[in-house]
Amino acid sequence: MIMPETKKIAVIAGDGIGPEVVAEAIKVLKRTEELFGYRFEFEHGLFGGIAIDEKGTPLPEDTLRMCQAADAVLLGAVGGPKWDNNPKELRPETGLLGIRKALGLYANLRPAVVFDCLIGASTLKPEVLRGTDLIVVRELTGGIYFGEKYRRDTENGQIAVDTCVYSVPEIERIVRRAFEIARQRRKKLASVDKANVLETSRLWRETVNRIAPEYPDVELEHVLVDNAAMQLLRRPASFDVIVTENMFGDILSDEAAMLTGSIGMLSSASLGDGNRGLYEPVHGSAPDIAGKGIANPVATILSAALMLRLSFGYHDAADAVERAVREVLDAGHRTADIAEAGDKTVGTTEMGDLIAAAMRN
Ligand code: NAD
Repeated sequence: MIMPETKKIAVIAGDGIGPEVVAEAIKVLKRTEELFGYRFEFEHGLFGGIAIDEKGTPLPEDTLRMCQAADAVLLGAVGGPKWDNNPKELRPETGLLGIRKALGLYANLRPAVVFDCLIGASTLKPEVLRGTDLIVVRELTGGIYFGEKYRRDTENGQIAVDTCVYSVPEIERIVRRAFEIARQRRKKLASVDKANVLETSRLWRETVNRIAPEYPDVELEHVLVDNAAMQLLRRPASFDVIVTENMFGDILSDEAAMLTGSIGMLSSASLGDGNRGLYEPVHGSAPDIAGKGIANPVATILSAALMLRLSFGYHDAADAVERAVREVLDAGHRTADIAEAGDKTVGTTEMGDLIAAAMRN
């Protein structure tokens, strides 16, 4: 038998519940080594508030080098009240921006999956939500957040300007990523823009239409962003992959997240060129519950499943993790954040143990 190559995973657990939830994701990754024969090497680095305390910077050089040399990065969460009033360069979030930039991560992926057994946790009606399993692919490094900004005094008072700029190569690379992802899923892509008003959106749509013939197996629809915001609430289960520019993606991915109803379940991936990616839960460091052993590790475990699928192409292992999560939830096990009155709850470690034990080849 040919041994699979060892994949290097840089682990930056960060602050608050970060180390607690990351430990459970590592447990699950180690279980995939046993079940499928894959090999991982975990290297740990300081990041965020703890790095500020110990090294005087949120993103120490050696942590950054470790991430650049890795095949994938697993991130917990950063931040907490201790560092909230620090100057900008000594804030944990500055480390997050730094690492995304250094790794050239331009695509942010946020799945929103509604689990039948948790359907009551959402504010929407179950019949609308049932079957929802979508992913928002958001362009992360261009558009209005990064364009030129200024203010100027005029005879009518002060004006403020934010410029939105997109180049063809910037659009092409994110759109190709989205088509590729759609191809691995249900083969449906919704491209969201505002082409009736914005020039950047017209260039976006032209580029999408030019690339589409390369993916004849993927069904494409164009949706205007205002309509997309409505359709996400009206027919969420009809979406598969949604691709859009930075600001629209920022808003729509949060809207999609709320379909599921629980922050402790939401995973994410950020990708650049090649296979390397950064995988992290959507939630923060949850200082209010840190150290209590009650955090929900599912968001981080599902982020590890995304790593298996997107960076390593280990679809069998990714399927096994996702199936195990579903099984454990269906069996009624709940951490406190997703429990209803009267449910018996499990802690962080027990949830990780249950998921690892439910995995099968
Ligand atoms: P948060 O996501 O940390 O917490 C919001 C609420 O959700 C809290 O009540 C928390 O207990 C709960 N929660 C979050 N994750 C949970 C989990 N896995 N299991 C159970 N409950 C969970 O957001 P916040 O309170 O606004 O921010 C706290 C800190 O985290 C701040 O310093 C903020 O800057 C930072 N933050 C970091 C990231 C990141 O690292 N990517 C993202 C968001 C916020």
